[in-house]
Amino acid sequence: MHALLVEDDDRMARALGTALALRGHTVRRVGRALEALRLVHEAEFVLLDLGLPDLDGLELLRRLRTVCDAPLIVVTARCEERDIVQGLRAGADDYVVKPFRMAELMARIDSVRRRTAAAPAEHGGGRPVVRTGDVEVDLAGRTVRVAGAEVRLTRREFDVLAVLAARPDEVHSREEILDRVWGDAFLAASRSLDVHVAGLRAKTGRAGLVRTVRGFGYQLGRPAPPPGAPDGLR
Ligand code: CA
Repeated sequence: MHALLVEDDDRMARALGTALALRGHTVRRVGRALEALRLVHEAEFVLLDLGLPDLDGLELLRRLRTVCDAPLIVVTARCEERDIVQGLRAGADDYVVKPFRMAELMARIDSVRRRTAAAPAEHGGGRPVVRTGDVEVDLAGRTVRVAGAEVRLTRREFDVLAVLAARPDEVHSREEILDRVWGDAFLAASRSLDVHVAGLRAKTGRAGLVRTVRGFGYQLGRPAPPPGAPDGLR
């Protein structure tokens, strides 16, 4: 398997690279978040250090998850429970704290790969464009089209929509969306989520694009064109 190793520490990267190579993996090592974003599409699994020089690792994790579904294990010195919870909620398949035992990490890699290989393909998994009604959400290109015309969203508005569109059959709790988009459900103003959902509905002109599940969260909806839209768009 081809591994992407995101680690800025040379000694750690050498040790991990050697262990992975001994187990038959090919390894591409990068030390910066922006290189990781550029190369992640070729990875079959990802090992991610959170302490990187150019971008916070959790932010990188969220961005990687919008473009890539490969199994991902966080390998980090951050050992607070809150870090671990945030890492897992942001989409990590496992979380290993440094210093770790190499054999254990290798076993965890095997375990995560088994689990993700056995799971049926999810909606959104490897599917870059999600369609609902006349709305097209391009998750990889980060664009939205309504009735064929591109609609400009803010980064956060798109991130909220991407969380919903990546798993359209699921209802997503407010906490999950806040964690994934803002990084911390406890710090993010819960109200800002409603503001962004309102922005999404208004800018797309499709109120039904986001379905409210009262008291819990949101789900991708199946929007109808507004009344008075030309017949060709219905
Ligand atoms: Ca580091």
